[in-house]
Amino acid sequence: MRGQYVHFKPRGDPSVLSRRYKVIAVAAGGVAIFYFTHLEDVPYTHRRHAVFVSPETEKVLGLQTFEQVKAEAKAAGKLLPQHHPAVQSVRRIGERIAANAEHPGGGGRTDHMKDLKWEFMVIDEPGNVNAFVMPGGKVVVYTGLLRLLRKEDEIAAVLGHEVAHVLARHIGEKLSSAALYTMLQIVLALTLGFNIPSDLFQVAVFLPNSRHGSSEPVTPLLQHYGNHYFLAQWKQETEADVIGIHLSARACFDPTAAVDVFTKLGEAEKSAGISTPGFLRTHPLSQKRVEAIKKNLPKALEDYELAGCNAPRGYFPW
Ligand SMILES: [Zn+2]
Repeated sequence: MRGQYVHFKPRGDPSVLSRRYKVIAVAAGGVAIFYFTHLEDVPYTHRRHAVFVSPETEKVLGLQTFEQVKAEAKAAGKLLPQHHPAVQSVRRIGERIAANAEHPGGGGRTDHMKDLKWEFMVIDEPGNVNAFVMPGGKVVVYTGLLRLLRKEDEIAAVLGHEVAHVLARHIGEKLSSAALYTMLQIVLALTLGFNIPSDLFQVAVFLPNSRHGSSEPVTPLLQHYGNHYFLAQWKQETEADVIGIHLSARACFDPTAAVDVFTKLGEAEKSAGISTPGFLRTHPLSQKRVEAIKKNLPKALEDYELAGCNAPRGYFPW
């Protein structure tokens, strides 16, 4: 009968399909608005990225993992005490770099760097050539890395890289990408009844970088999402290198040392009896990373000059 309301329509009915497309469009629009309203500018590189988690959440996650790593190192008798010369050197270099991380010259978002309680922990594992950072300014360095690098400028290059991860909110970005993926999965499942298998997604993002070994997620939450962010990892490591040389230069450490660090790590990797240094497993070595550093060195050297690092003692450089 004309005008009669029909309660049930067969599958594939054009009006049901068009309603479904409307729901998809609204849901996708909602996710897009959410994404674009959370875009931030990364200092120095000015890359735009979306971060949904608050700096406070990042801090809580960072502290939780830091305390866990500390307790494990202590129980194993590997935690170097705060008065140990290696810890004092790392802390002195690291704090000098961290103090410059908020410099307005880099632009971008920096308010999350205010009132951070930076902590530098050194774990005595001579065979572990590695360092990593957690949100909130919690840095872990292994003695294997210190023994390989030895020079202050080189250690500054590594610490500049780690501080850069915090400045660029890379952990927050990774968590946000994982959350965005989950949101998209839900939208697709609710509207189309279609579920992207997690394994398929993981294979798609995991394989391109699988030859570099596994990443080592730094929080239990990231462990869960571990395989979801391999492609982002690659981009973030190069970005941390570039920002890192600016940070170390502003703190009057020679930014060219970053290239030497890669040379030393590469040599350590090739030398007999030494397996791939941990730093290269979590920070895959690539010619592109070295090229990015070299390309940005002139600007970092300008920062070094402007900070008065070349000025004779007692003279203002400006
Ligand atoms: Zn890194």
